[in-house]
This record gives sequence, C-alpha cells and structure tokens, in this order.
Amino acid sequence: MEETAKGNILLVEDEVKLARFVELELKYEGYTVDVVNDGRDAIDKFGRNVYDLVLLDLMLPGFNGMEILRRIRKTSQVPVIMLTAKGDVSDKVSGLDSGADDYITKPFAIEEVLARMRVAFKKSAQTAHDDKPLRIKNLTIDPQKRMVKWQEIEIELTKTEFELLTYLVQNKNIVLTREQILNRVWGYDYFGETNIVDVYIRYLRTKIDDRFNEKIIYTTRGVGYYAKDE
Ligand code: CA
Repeated sequence: MEETAKGNILLVEDEVKLARFVELELKYEGYTVDVVNDGRDAIDKFGRNVYDLVLLDLMLPGFNGMEILRRIRKTSQVPVIMLTAKGDVSDKVSGLDSGADDYITKPFAIEEVLARMRVAFKKSAQTAHDDKPLRIKNLTIDPQKRMVKWQEIEIELTKTEFELLTYLVQNKNIVLTREQILNRVWGYDYFGETNIVDVYIRYLRTKIDDRFNEKIIYTTRGVGYYAKDE
C-alpha cells in the first residue's frame, strides 16, 4: 500500500455540501486537504501552511476569490484553479489575468477537477524545472541545487539567506522595500521585528560583499535594498 500523499490542497468553498464532497473525493485520490468556507479563513490558512494547489471558489463571504487570488500572488506562484457558479466570460478572463492557472464552471464532474489539477501540477513542475541559474557580477545562484558561488568558490548560506539573496537577484536593479522582502522571504504571517531584514542583509554582506570585496547589495535609505548589476 502506498501511503505517500500526492499533494497538499487548500479548498476554499462556502457551499458546505459541495466542499465536503470535493474534500472526500480528493482524499480518496490520495491528496491531503484543508477546507475553509470563508475568505478570511482562506488568507489565514494560506499564510500558515504550504500548499501545492488551491481550489478557489469565486463568490465567498469575507474576501471574494479574486481578492484572495490577488493576495496569494503577492508571495506565491502556487497553482490556483478557480471554481465558480458563473459561466461569465469576463469573470474567466479577469481570473486568468489575475494569475489563476485554470477555471472550472459549476456544476462540474469531479473527474474534470482531478484532470485539471493534474495539468496544473504538471505545468508547475515544469516551471520549477526552468529555474535557470541567476548571475550577478561574479556571483552565480543555482536555484535547483540551492548553491551559490562567487567565481568558483562555493558560499555557504542558510535557507533564509539563500531565499533573500535569490529574491534580490531575481529583481536586480529594482529597489525592494522591507515589507516586500518580509512578505516574500518570511511570509505574511510573520509578525516579528521588521529589522530582521536589515540583520539578514548584514549577514549576506559579510558573506559576499565584504568577503570578496565586490559590492552587490545596495541600500536605498528609508526605502529598502536592491542587488545592483553592472
Ligand atoms: Ca460560493
């Protein structure tokens, strides 16, 4: 018997009977499922857990599906499939514009949901596979191997340092605010001190800029930080 879970799913649906039905079907298929019936709970849950896919109803109490999607996309590229009673084309277009991966109109057959989920998983696996090495000055970041090198010298970074550096270099020459960095690297459920960002910037500067005498991380006073390429 295989007991490995296929993926962790967040199901956001306020029709309790429908939510229960989908939950049972997904569990039967081997997925782990968290169910919420309210928009606010969805945001809260998403901030506290790591999900592989979100099934998101459009019309919800609290925040609606579009608002939830907008918030999710601030920090995450998790696959999101919108579920809605409306067959309206304009909803579909705005959902996809807002970063939904797919769209299913109710009533649906569970087989359709499962099939669309498989497509979304495949797509996101391919995207992850496209994690090409990032370069800035003499520094190379390999997101797949989670390895950082200055020329040929490997630099040891903690997970948080690695994520902070990757985020800066992915957005090189763009000033990122402390809040953006906090949301992205620490997650929006982080309620500690915002100077944690400054502390970690200092760690990175010690390990990279100072050690190799090549300035990569710049400060924009009162705003935030950026990685500067030539
Ligand atoms: Ca609904």
